[in-house]
Amino acid sequence: MAAAQVRRPGGPLMPRAPKHCGHPDCTTPVRGTSYCPSHRNKWTSTGRTASSQLHDSTEWRQARRTYMAGATRCEAQLTHRCTGQPEQCDMIRPASQGGQITPHNLQAICRPCHAVKTRRERA
Ligand SMILES: [Zn+2]
Ligand SMILES: [Zn+2]
Repeated sequence: MAAAQVRRPGGPLMPRAPKHCGHPDCTTPVRGTSYCPSHRNKWTSTGRTASSQLHDSTEWRQARRTYMAGATRCEAQLTHRCTGQPEQCDMIRPASQGGQITPHNLQAICRPCHAVKTRRERA
């Protein structure tokens, strides 16, 4: 047994791993962004990302907070599993279908109803 490695107590200090592009097959390191330039462009052309970008926006967060402050129950009631709780804020017409962030297009929704609605929108 030569040159045994000395380990410091307290655990190793992990160097910060570089972030990689969010595309499943891509290993391009990225900084301050989720995708490398080539994948960012492809990804943003899909409706899915348009919707997640919207849900990251300050406009959405403020509208949601304001709306949910006045919500008392699930307004969707799409399933018998509806809990009746206003757990999430939902856009009645999703952004991928041109829905806007307006009080008329928002509803409080419980998780089971939201799951049903999301499934319908994808169908
Ligand atoms: Zn990439
Ligand atoms: Zn519900």
